[in-house]
Amino acid sequence: MNDLYVLYRGPLASCNYDCPYCPFAKKVDPPDLLRADRADLERFVGWVTATTDRRLSILFTPWGEGLTRSWYRDAVVRLSHQPHVARVAIQTNLAARTGWLADANPQVAALWTTYHPGQVTRERFLARCRELDTLGIRYSVGVVGFPEHHAEAVALREALSPGVYLWINAAEGHVYTSEEETLWTALDPLFGDSVRPHPSLGRPCHAGETAISVLGDGTVRRCHFIKTPIGNLYDGSWRAGLQPRDCTNSRCDCHIGYVHLKPLNLRDVYADGLLERIPGLRPGKSLLQIQQRPPVSDRQA
Ligand code: SF4
Ligand code: SF4
Repeated sequence: MNDLYVLYRGPLASCNYDCPYCPFAKKVDPPDLLRADRADLERFVGWVTATTDRRLSILFTPWGEGLTRSWYRDAVVRLSHQPHVARVAIQTNLAARTGWLADANPQVAALWTTYHPGQVTRERFLARCRELDTLGIRYSVGVVGFPEHHAEAVALREALSPGVYLWINAAEGHVYTSEEETLWTALDPLFGDSVRPHPSLGRPCHAGETAISVLGDGTVRRCHFIKTPIGNLYDGSWRAGLQPRDCTNSRCDCHIGYVHLKPLNLRDVYADGLLERIPGLRPGKSLLQIQQRPPVSDRQA
């Protein structure tokens, strides 16, 4: 069965946190927008449920925080039980309760979590992580690599279960010295993939072929970063829109984009954990070996 990776983003743009660098911090959505977001999501869940000729992997990438809304929790639970859904994951700040995940299929449901120092205590965040461990839910944990957050990230790494992958995102606008890069790479062996944007113009990308981005109204685009639609989910035109394509942007600097950039071969690195950002550790392979891959520039040659 053909694999299709789907990133979904509806109109929801509100968040309970107040991260100083984020345009959605403490934003409140009006009731009519929340109703529209819910209706759009339920329509999308219906499409996923009915599209059984593809092996679908879904990542919800809301602008704000989705798991404080019942309809995102319900979507994760419901889709995790669909036989043709290989993965359903959501990006979250992990502030919301986790008990609802007991109803999800732990083989399929997963979380991409981010720890935001200053918005939540490390102890409270780690308590949520332990809840996920108890539930047997797959999750990655991430930190944005601001220099002032390094000590927190080190302490978090020490406290997390050894098997939990901690990723570090390069902070937007920050240029890392080689010493800083070494420090962050000690925490995340794959930090080198995040620290510099990837030149992408004219390079082949899975986005638009076996990965798509979907908006609430069903507009299908290659990825979140190229706005031109290639079809719509609900009139079936997405099928004809899928084809091998080269990137038309000069660079790709977001993990949810460049994991699909073919020359990087990151589908081999992440395997089944591609969407929730957990490197796939096959038997005999370790994170250390991933760290010892050729430099990114060589892989792009
Ligand atoms: S948790 Fe995420 S969406 Fe919310 S304010 Fe922070 S960065 Fe923005
Ligand atoms: S390289 Fe990035 S911007 Fe270009 S098509 Fe792929 S995901 Fe989109």
